[in-house]
Amino acid sequence: WWNHVFPAPKDPISGVTEAFLADTCPRKINLGVGAYRDDEGKPVVLQCVREAEAKISGCNFLESVFSKVSSKLVEESVKLVYGKDSEVVKEGSYAGIQAISGTGACRLFAEFQRRFYPGSQIYFPDPTWSNHHNIWRDAQVPRRNFHYYDWNAKGLNFSALIDDIKNAPDGSFFLLHPCAHNPTGVDPTEKQWREISYWFKVKNHFPFFDTAYQGFASGDLDQDAQSIRIFLEDGHWIGCAQSFSKNMGLYGHRVGCLSILCADTEKAAAVKSQLEKIARAMYGSPPVHGILLVSSILGDPNIKRLWEKEVKVMVDRIQRMRATLIESLTKLSSSHDWEHIKDQVGMFCYSGLTPEQVNRLRAEFSIYMTRDGRMSMAGVTTGNVSYLANALHEVTKA
Ligand code: PMP
Repeated sequence: WWNHVFPAPKDPISGVTEAFLADTCPRKINLGVGAYRDDEGKPVVLQCVREAEAKISGCNFLESVFSKVSSKLVEESVKLVYGKDSEVVKEGSYAGIQAISGTGACRLFAEFQRRFYPGSQIYFPDPTWSNHHNIWRDAQVPRRNFHYYDWNAKGLNFSALIDDIKNAPDGSFFLLHPCAHNPTGVDPTEKQWREISYWFKVKNHFPFFDTAYQGFASGDLDQDAQSIRIFLEDGHWIGCAQSFSKNMGLYGHRVGCLSILCADTEKAAAVKSQLEKIARAMYGSPPVHGILLVSSILGDPNIKRLWEKEVKVMVDRIQRMRATLIESLTKLSSSHDWEHIKDQVGMFCYSGLTPEQVNRLRAEFSIYMTRDGRMSMAGVTTGNVSYLANALHEVTKA
């Protein structure tokens, strides 16, 4: 048995962490993983999570399986993206289901898309989070790219993006990052989102928002949902995957939500029942502990306020590190243009380094990042920023 099985290629992101862990250099830096760390480089358990943990301690988990805990999570999650006063939320005209974090929500949707729109394809921004390709490929949905990033200008290739929307067959599925685009850190402006939404309407495209970093672009949760709310205002049917891995630091708990807007509550019930059927055959139901944590945070105004403040603290630290990194590079008289580090938002900086420069950073400085030059700014600290700047200067100078 299994003689025909050979090792799968390493995942570009987890492969970086493995190599980092094996490195014994004391100055090593992991800029691969998009997980928030504090200024000491340590992963953070947010205070809001500790308070939620205290609130649910002693809870009978078996009981919660039979109670409304999963609908509570969904109710609170949809308020975050569509807005608590939105008609869809008030009317309940959405199909919402708890999911195994953002990845699981995307996987459920991909399966749902294939079942109910067989033969349809999905358009991804170029580039996108590498796992999007794996997820839709495994669901056997054909994948296409649409223009997004302009590698020369290090910004959005807006005209090419609009052309691709116009040229796609009517009624195509598009995956959009509503904020803090991974890996580029480049988001459309409000005006550009309005234009994108306009052309989606003209073409009757379906927008699927993958929301893995709400809060991480601007530090404000509502502001980061602006793109979704523009589409909502324009009357689109929307699908949305939400993850609490980053903005609540709950990676290991795998808490997420998938919601799909529907014409009315009856259609919503039908769509939800199909999503539940897919989930049931894939993994039964998700673990309940993280769901209780997230619903306790979102459902308690005091803990929720604390969470909002903590999101801002994380974002401010990342912004500070962007500014300090540029300052350090300027002090070293780097002739390379690094301004995009400051302009980009969210957890990542799409550095523009070549694969050769990335290899040199790893071999000569024990600094790890994905081969596309994406640096997780969450791994930059007051203690390592000048070491990083010096290394970047060394590998980029003529
Ligand atoms: N979407 C995007 C764009 C991401 O960057 C990530 C995490 N890297 C996810 C979804 C899913 O993350 P998780 O499954 O941990 O919620």
